[in-house]
Amino acid sequence: MSLIDKPSPNFNERKGPPDMVVLHYTGMETAKAALDRLLDPDAKVSAHYVVDEDGSVYALVPEERRAWHAGVSYWRGETDINGCSIGVEIVNPGHEFGYRDFPAIQIDAVIGLLDGIRERWDIADSRILGHSDVAPARKEDPGERFPWKTLADHGHGLWVEPDLPPAGAMGPPLGPGDEGLGVFSLQSALGKLGYNVLGGGPYDDETLTIVRAFQRHWLPEVIGTEIEGRADAATRVRLMALLRHITLLEV
Ligand SMILES: [Zn+2]
Repeated sequence: MSLIDKPSPNFNERKGPPDMVVLHYTGMETAKAALDRLLDPDAKVSAHYVVDEDGSVYALVPEERRAWHAGVSYWRGETDINGCSIGVEIVNPGHEFGYRDFPAIQIDAVIGLLDGIRERWDIADSRILGHSDVAPARKEDPGERFPWKTLADHGHGLWVEPDLPPAGAMGPPLGPGDEGLGVFSLQSALGKLGYNVLGGGPYDDETLTIVRAFQRHWLPEVIGTEIEGRADAATRVRLMALLRHITLLEV
């Protein structure tokens, strides 16, 4: 893969080697506008790479350095996500400026980039995440159009498609205002996966936000439907299947 050097001044030192990748969309009207911002010392933001819609890959910050892409964020007890991750900005106008599908050539480039990153660093599939996973209350990127399944088909990240239980076997979807053991189990499972959820209370706004983030990554077809933010059988079965999968990998 050929990289185009576009050094950004926006970085500092890491405390240790990266063990996570965070994927973003740029969320700006053009690739140029996004690059200008990521190279602007006053903006104080950056990423390690920018992947354009034609498959061009720009290298902004060396992988050994700490780029500034995640902001206030959390995963599995870690709050310095910039410190432990490699950040990849994928050009797309995003929800604000006309969210559109990611071209296949662009996704091929993301996969090629991940191939190289994971040859150089020890990064588990369970730590290839979206910005919306590590900052669910603030961020939607890379969003429900991002083809996580295609990435997993090429060996990057986690994807599961478990069979659904018989209709009605799991009761109605859980949603705002519900409480009890089902809600507690849901919150606990989301927390075990990595999301920043305390749990123990009712299905509140925080729970809804995190269920929505989970769906944006692992059940994107429900985004924009009445199930968005509510935990139906498909959401809960997929969450359980992911946890089972990770547990097996970690044994
Ligand atoms: Zn982002």
